[in-house]
Amino acid sequence: MLNKWEGIVLKSRSYGESNKIVTIMTREVGKVTVMARGAKKPTSRLAGITQTFMHGVYVVQRGSGMGTLQQGEHLASMRHIQTDIVATAYASYIVELLDRIVEEGSPEPFAFEVLQQALHAIEEEYDPEAIALFVDWKLLPYTGVQPMLHACASCGAIEGEFAFSFAQGGYLCHRCFHLDPYIIRLTPTQLKLIRMFYSVPIDQIGKLDLKKGTKQFIKKIVSTIYEEQTGIRLKSRSFIEQLERTSLLSRNKHNEETTE
Ligand SMILES: [Zn+2]
Repeated sequence: MLNKWEGIVLKSRSYGESNKIVTIMTREVGKVTVMARGAKKPTSRLAGITQTFMHGVYVVQRGSGMGTLQQGEHLASMRHIQTDIVATAYASYIVELLDRIVEEGSPEPFAFEVLQQALHAIEEEYDPEAIALFVDWKLLPYTGVQPMLHACASCGAIEGEFAFSFAQGGYLCHRCFHLDPYIIRLTPTQLKLIRMFYSVPIDQIGKLDLKKGTKQFIKKIVSTIYEEQTGIRLKSRSFIEQLERTSLLSRNKHNEETTE
């Protein structure tokens, strides 16, 4: 049976002398793995369309085993992501995270939408570090973690000072601070930003200019949730950390500090 799906390539690896096995996040059927025969040859018409980050329409022949990619057509070339090392680093992190937490076998329209919006935002040169943060917060529910961020996780209050509590799974108001000795105090701006990362769609955010320190602070919270509550640690995160150490990322123009 021939199927036509819109998808984004999460991963592409060699198989044999000339083939590739390609993992595609599709809009219609969720994550699928397909064989692309001959795609390793540069002259193959499947060579370009099977590269990581490609967004296209894929025609797949499905049988009893792994499907076979018959043809594909670009919807977006993702040239900036392919050529800018910082954009590549964060986009790699995003596709790896998607691949880790989304299972094959069922449509996942929300995850597809987050992925598509995130990669296109990076392609349009939005701050890739902020976009990766969006994805981190938005995909948390796929790991079974649903932090309480609209009210105090203990008493339900919506007013007061707030802090983040890993133990309580979300925000705690000042009346409940005593419940957790390890709370992380939040300024009103940090409080609002985390809520926004978690609940506002990426395409409604506009260009965000966040201070490096603000991003690092919010990143620290979400990374701790991933590492300690889901056990997920990604290879591409180490690559980003390496880039940061070699200060390549500080050349990123988005580090101009304008707002908190
Ligand atoms: Zn409370």
